[in-house]
Formats: sequence, C-alpha cells, structure tokens
Amino acid sequence: MPEQKLSSGASIAIIGAGIVGVASACALQRNGYEVTVYDPDPPGEGGPSRANAGHVAASDIHPLSTPGIQWKALKMLTNPNAPLKIPVRDALAQIPWFWRFWQTSRGSRFETATRALSYLSRYAFNDIHKMLEFAGLSNMLVNKGGVFLYDTEQSFFASRAVWAKKSAAGFESEEIDAKRIAYDVPSINDKFRHGVHSYGWGQVQDPLDLVRELARSAQSNGVVFIQNRVNGLSEGKHSVTLETDEGGKLHDAVIVAAGVGSVQFAKSCGDFLPIAAERGYNLTIQDPGVELDLPLVFADRGIVATQVTSGLRIGGWAEYARPDRPANQNYYKSIARISQELFPGLNMSNTNYWMGNRPSLPDSVPVISRSRHTHRVYYNCGHGHYGLSFSATSARLLCELIVGDRDLSKHRPYSIDRFI
Ligand SMILES: Cc1cc2nc3c(=O)[nH]c(=O)nc-3n(C[C@H](O)[C@H](O)[C@H](O)COP(=O)(O)OP(=O)(O)OC[C@H]3O[C@@H](n4cnc5c(N)ncnc54)[C@H](O)[C@@H]3O)c2cc1C
Repeated sequence: MPEQKLSSGASIAIIGAGIVGVASACALQRNGYEVTVYDPDPPGEGGPSRANAGHVAASDIHPLSTPGIQWKALKMLTNPNAPLKIPVRDALAQIPWFWRFWQTSRGSRFETATRALSYLSRYAFNDIHKMLEFAGLSNMLVNKGGVFLYDTEQSFFASRAVWAKKSAAGFESEEIDAKRIAYDVPSINDKFRHGVHSYGWGQVQDPLDLVRELARSAQSNGVVFIQNRVNGLSEGKHSVTLETDEGGKLHDAVIVAAGVGSVQFAKSCGDFLPIAAERGYNLTIQDPGVELDLPLVFADRGIVATQVTSGLRIGGWAEYARPDRPANQNYYKSIARISQELFPGLNMSNTNYWMGNRPSLPDSVPVISRSRHTHRVYYNCGHGHYGLSFSATSARLLCELIVGDRDLSKHRPYSIDRFI
C-alpha cells in the first residue's frame, strides 16, 4: 500500500476519548488537522483512563512477559494473594493470547519489545510535559520519582539485575534502606526494609481530571467532541464513513483509539489486533488518615499506591477475563485487606471500588500504525499498563506517521504488521 500524507486541514476522526484518544486529538490539532472525537461517554469516563493509578511509568522498559514467566505465572495462579487471575470459564479463549505472551519472553522477541518500550519510556515524561504545557496544565504533572518496595531481601536482590539493565539504558535509580523508606514513606508498614527510588518515575495529580482538562483545552482550540458510539466504519475512495446512531459521518481518515473496543474495528478492516482485557482493580480512599508524597510500587504484589486528588488510590492486579464480566467482589476484599497490611494506620470507612479493562497486547507494546488493508484507518491502542504514561509519546509518533515522517524505522516496532 503506498504511503500517503494527509495534508494539513484534513478531517480526522478519533474513535475513543480515553487518554490516548484525547492526547492524539491534541497532537493532531496542533499539526493543523480538523479533529472530531467520538465516544458515548464524556472524555476519560468510558475506560481505564478514568481511575488508573496515575503513574508515569517512565522506567518500565521491559514487557510483562519476562524470561521464565511461565513458571512465575503457574505459581501465581495457585496463590489467592498473587496479582495474576484467569477465571476458569474464560481460560480456554485466552490460550492464543497467552501463547503470544509467552513467545514475547523468548530470545529476540523480548529484546525487540524492550527496545520499543525503552523509546516510549525515554520520552514519556518530556512529551507529557510538553502536551500539558501547551494546554496550560503543567502543574498536573509531578516529577519526584517513584519508590519500589520489596517484601523480601531475596526478591530485592533478584531485582538488582533488572535495575542494572535499566541503568545501562539510561534510567537512573538508587537503592534505599529501611531508614530512608521510613523517612520517605512514613505511613508504610515497617516490615518494608528494601526499596529502590526510580528517578524517571512520576505521577499526575488525578488521571480523570487530566483527561477532562486536556479535552477542555483541545475543545477550546477547535477539536469537536461528539458523545456518540461508533458502530462501524467503511472506507470509500475519498473518505471513510463512521456509522453512528445519528447516521454516517464522513472524514478523510480515522484513528482507532477505543481501548478494548478497538478489536471490533480492526476485525472489520481485515486487521489482526490481539488486544485482551487485562482487568485491574483498585480502591480510592477518601480521608485515609495517611498521606503519600511519592507514588509507590509494591513490586512483589502487583499493587501500586498513589495519592491522587480524589484520595489515596491502591490497587493493580491482572485478571484476564471477558471485558463485560462483572467485577469480582472477592478481589476488592483481598485488596482492601492487603491495603490495611501495607498502611497500618489506614482508615477505609470512605472507599470507592473500581475495576477497569486495560487494553493489553501480548508483547506489552502499543500499536501505533496504519491499517494493513484499509488506507484511511490508523490505530493508536493496546497500551496495557502504560496508557497514561505513553499517551503523549504515542500521539507524537502517530502524528509523525500521518504527517508523513520519512523515518519509518522509528515506527516499525509499533506496527500492526508484527502480528501477522
Ligand atoms: C487498575 C489500573 C491501574 C492503571 N494504572 C496506570 C498507571 O498508573 N499509569 C499508566 O500509564 N497506565 C495505567 N493503567 C493503564 C491505563 O489506564 C490504560 O492503558 C489507558 O487508560 C488506556 O487508555 P485508552 O485511551 O487507550 O483506552 P480507554 O481508557 O479504554 O478509552 C477508550 C475509549 O474508547 C471508547 N470507545 C470504545 N468503543 C467505542 C465505540 N465503539 N465508539 C466510540 N467510542 C468507543 C470508550 O468509551 C473509552 O472512553 C492502569 C489501568 C488499570 C486498570
């Protein structure tokens, strides 16, 4: 398929007003395009962009599927407190996805995914900062680093090899001892005696406020938000038509940024996009009685904690299940119990419970790509654990692709072609 530039002023539709869709809208608008965003929900409210942990994970350079993952996964599946869950009724349908996931952990595939994630991590902070600065929202980004805490000396020592690799790739960190942990995180259980301060890490003040405010800024610059579901799309010779409840809408091109909902559009375009719903659970506690100055990662538990505007947010985990299944109430109970163990002074009397579908690809690398078969369709989706972190960098890469950047080698690692 010949490369084709979209000239300035072209009309581009975005399906999905999550953080990735809204960041894409901001970037495309700044590049001179007429942008319209479709979503049945208000910006940020339709998916996990609503209540994620708010971390800017700018040193997570490895895919989730690390060498030896199959043994770790088997161990986790037999432990009710471990972060990995695959309900039996959904297990069979997940086998092809997990096969690809496992393949990522092996040889050159792991290195390829690491290189792709390293690029996104390296630019994550600067690109978010620029995006927010342009919108007059730079105060929403906090860059004090983040603290990784280990339950045991053994897991801490085992993590050293990973931190050394990150350091070699330019992501600096520092080991911290019990005294420093007590100083930096006074509310934490004093059983945590080993940690790492990652300087590249950061957080936003509140993920939902961020999407809302970015959307407001984009709107004031001319981006149109239409609160409507897109039911399908079809390509004509000179345009693409989106089918909505209010009839067909014509645009020069469309960006699919619909989180787990992106799969249906890819299918209709003849593309294979293996996004699974990786469901995460968290609690947001108002008046928790403890304060956090830094975002925390409990590395052995698949749990993170962040002080956001709406409260102290604690959660994580990964449940691979159909996206329309109701949340598992037992997981909330387990995370509540674990939260109290992590923060002994925690007051949980005013707690909101939430579950969201991470749009996860088996190699943890998002798809930022033109469709293989449908000329006017592009994808920016599948960000899994890192949608907020990599939103601005993905939006920049997408723009470069659309504007017709010659250096396509930069985009290759994010191409949808890798799943052929
Ligand atoms: C518990 C948890 C914690 C997390 N913590 C972090 C974190 O700290 N840092 C981080 O970087 N990431 C984190 N994530 C991941 C992050 O939330 C996601 O990667 C990110 O929100 C994905 O954004 P998105 O815009 O691609 O998708 P979504 O947020 O799902 O947005 C997609 C939008 O598309 C819309 N849509 C779907 N179908 C259609 C349709 N047919 N027509 C129109 N619109 C449609 C939906 O309504 C939705 O609004 C976390 C996720 C979870 C679950």
